[in-house]
Amino acid sequence: MRVKWLTLPLMAALVASSASAWVVSKPTSLLPEVTKHMEQARENLQSGYLDVAAAHVEVVLVGDEVTYNLKCEGLNESRQALCEQAFLYAANTWETALGGSVHFRRVDDPATAQVSVRFMPNVTMKGEAVAGYVNWKRTIRMDHSHVAEASFKADLQLRACTLNGGRMPIAAMKHEAMHELGHVLGLDDSDREGDIMGPLDVDHPCAKPLPREVEAVRELRDEAQHIRAEALVSKAKL
Ligand SMILES: [Zn+2]
Repeated sequence: MRVKWLTLPLMAALVASSASAWVVSKPTSLLPEVTKHMEQARENLQSGYLDVAAAHVEVVLVGDEVTYNLKCEGLNESRQALCEQAFLYAANTWETALGGSVHFRRVDDPATAQVSVRFMPNVTMKGEAVAGYVNWKRTIRMDHSHVAEASFKADLQLRACTLNGGRMPIAAMKHEAMHELGHVLGLDDSDREGDIMGPLDVDHPCAKPLPREVEAVRELRDEAQHIRAEALVSKAKL
């Protein structure tokens, strides 16, 4: 069974919000807003606006530790346990693939979580069934020339039932969760089957991100960390 995905990007200058639910014809690529933040980080580093450069990479890195709150809505206890297992697998798989450069930590208080994760029987977008949905916001707020805020928030919704109301296989929920975390880490959608950022085939889900998908995130995080370190060193010299 194939599920149809929709994409709904929304973007604005420094405060960028986006919503996405899978598809788009592209190879492994970064979210356009993430590419823009990296360009602005490089430019600000060059120009000596070190705090601004650091803020732009901060919203890309999302912190070395990403906090999340996980809830299941409308699902019985045994389903909840499987959903939690699927999400934990997804988080661990990305952590391992990235060599520990990012860590996902579960928190009980939704207000303190950067990422809100909700498993529910049905997820729709604009009235159409989708496998998953993520809505995120990378915010940089300036107070005159000072950075007042550099933050990341995301809201993930993941489908726990198939279109005919049956149980979504756990392997498919793992793919859903890894896909949406891929967006959190900066990856854009892909239309290639077999990509974690590609469409979900419920009968043949992906077990993990492909090496080139991992490499894209690694390169992004390496450069972002490099810029952050450069900004710190330059600041110390002032
Ligand atoms: Zn997507």
